[in-house]
Amino acid sequence: MSINENVQLVQQKMQQASEKSFQKKQVQLIGVTKSVSSQVASELLEAGITALGENRPEGLSEKQAALGREACEWHFIGTLQSRKVRQIIDQIDVLHSLDRLHLAEEINKRAKRPVDCFVQVNVSGEASKQGISADDIHSFLHEIGQYPQVRVIGLMTMAPLTENQEEVRSVFRALRVLRDEVAARNLSYAPCTELSMGMSSDYEIAIEEGATHVRIGTVLVQS
Ligand SMILES: *Cc1c(COP(=O)(O)O)cnc(C)c1O
Repeated sequence: MSINENVQLVQQKMQQASEKSFQKKQVQLIGVTKSVSSQVASELLEAGITALGENRPEGLSEKQAALGREACEWHFIGTLQSRKVRQIIDQIDVLHSLDRLHLAEEINKRAKRPVDCFVQVNVSGEASKQGISADDIHSFLHEIGQYPQVRVIGLMTMAPLTENQEEVRSVFRALRVLRDEVAARNLSYAPCTELSMGMSSDYEIAIEEGATHVRIGTVLVQS
């Protein structure tokens, strides 16, 4: 299948999942280009994708040099080392991986404008996963209040690697419940209305459970 066909099929499945979801919000598709060339990234844009995701500063710079900063929205989805913040923070539109206070401090110091961030949550509690534990999220957000350049627009998670769809669903559902709890607190710096969850293998489940942003690579770029 061509990139065009991939994009159309994913958008179709997103639409169907969205109709099954209880909130029927528009879902943003982020094309993850971390494992493909700038050429493929450019084909994604031609096929109608409006946001690209990269997980390394080098990948981001390479794609932006080829396509242009204004070509689309740029989302940073990988673990961000504090010493790399300066290099990318004014080059991205959204950070999906705010996972520690020190990173927030660094963003606050370096960014020229408030940055839209998702706080990454380790819902499943797997030791191998990045993110704030669900138990710590409220105190973490309290601390974030001291960094005016950090704006928490939502929560992000990665589902556990398992074939068990119900387990995946319960993780997404738990993130939604947590998001609702945070949103209900009406923190000026953390509206927290958004949910970044769902990748190639589980985006339909994520949308059914209320995802507002899905991060999809493999099924968009495969031929
Ligand atoms: C690679 C990656 C994705 C996309 O994964 P696919 O399975 O290729 O769709 C999404 N989110 C993050 C954080 C990633 O690193």
